[in-house]
Amino acid sequence: MSIALVDCNNFYASCEAAFQPMLQDLPVIVLSNNDGCVVARSSQAKALGIPMGEPFFKVQHLVQKHNIQVFSSNYGLYGDMSARVMSTLAAFTPDFEPYSIDEVFLGFDGFNAVDLLEYGYQIRDTVKQWTGLPVSIGFAPTKTLAKIANHLAKDSGEGVVDITHHNLAAILSEIAIEEVWGIGRRWGRSLRAAGITTALQLQEAELGWIKRKYSVVLQRTVLELRGHACIPLELAPPTRKSIMVSRSFRRPVTELVELKEAIATYISRAAEKLRLYQLTANVLQVFARSSRFKEDYYSESVTLSLPNPTQDTRVLMLFALQGAEAVYRPDCDFNKAGVVLLELRSVAEEQLDLFAQRDAERSMLLMQTVDQINRQFGSGTIQFAVAGLQKSWGMRQEQRSNRWTTCWRELPVVRA
Ligand SMILES: [Mg+2]
Repeated sequence: MSIALVDCNNFYASCEAAFQPMLQDLPVIVLSNNDGCVVARSSQAKALGIPMGEPFFKVQHLVQKHNIQVFSSNYGLYGDMSARVMSTLAAFTPDFEPYSIDEVFLGFDGFNAVDLLEYGYQIRDTVKQWTGLPVSIGFAPTKTLAKIANHLAKDSGEGVVDITHHNLAAILSEIAIEEVWGIGRRWGRSLRAAGITTALQLQEAELGWIKRKYSVVLQRTVLELRGHACIPLELAPPTRKSIMVSRSFRRPVTELVELKEAIATYISRAAEKLRLYQLTANVLQVFARSSRFKEDYYSESVTLSLPNPTQDTRVLMLFALQGAEAVYRPDCDFNKAGVVLLELRSVAEEQLDLFAQRDAERSMLLMQTVDQINRQFGSGTIQFAVAGLQKSWGMRQEQRSNRWTTCWRELPVVRA
């Protein structure tokens, strides 16, 4: 059995560079929502010593000096590019587990006749050619080792590594215990206290002791480091338990009408996701809060039961607006609000009576049409008036690049 972890290099920064080639050789950073912190860095930006997660104001003085290209996060672009990478990879093997927006585990059961290293380079070149994004690929017998192989592929600059061609003990001896997949800081501290500081020492640890002192989960990690696959690929993604859409406001919101605009915007987005995953929701939560750093911190949420499971924005909107009224307080400076959809079920499992069935079909057609138009002409082309047109409370995104791949008005222009 062989597993590969495919990981996009500097994903958000690479998405930006894919559509603006002049960025390839410049330091690029991408900022979190409301332009708060650095959440992605190109390799040139890393070389300047800009740390991950650093508040932007702390590195702002470097921007001019080093000609750093700064972007607000453009999740529409990143999500679409992620989908393109995933569908490209799906052509290479049927065993496929998306792990995060820019990481996928691939399984190569029955590929015994294939030279995986060569196949890896083929995968890497194809992704680059079809999407413009650079990826690193690590092959190994287990997921935990594939993570390590991937780091090796990235750090060595080789791009593709099959860990079975290397001296595993030598590699593991170089890896700090906290870097091992699934260890984290808490276990890391405890293992260090017990004298286990490298991945190699963990691999050699006594299984019974690990299980007694820690858990069967850590025991599995030890076995995986030894090359026994214990964490299977999750080929069918687990059904989502909830869908949340929430944002911080760019400035405090005090008026009910603005809070309702925000909630209406979020519930529209949440309903879109619900339909994308072909789910219905039966319970809806609405919450809003003031800044945690203010003295009179206020936070309130309400949970509303819907009369029937639904994915219709009109129904969800009605209840979400009631929720907004319930959590609103006139003397409060709100700085964040959101909605959560719960009790999700797949549309296929839904059982409705005859008349409800007919209504559900009509509602589905209407919603599909709205989604289609918004996909084609940019999100918000059709929206509920109550969601507001100005949205002056909306996120700060002063330096967002174009939505090159998801919005007609923002397509790349080729000059003659
Ligand atoms: Mg990555």
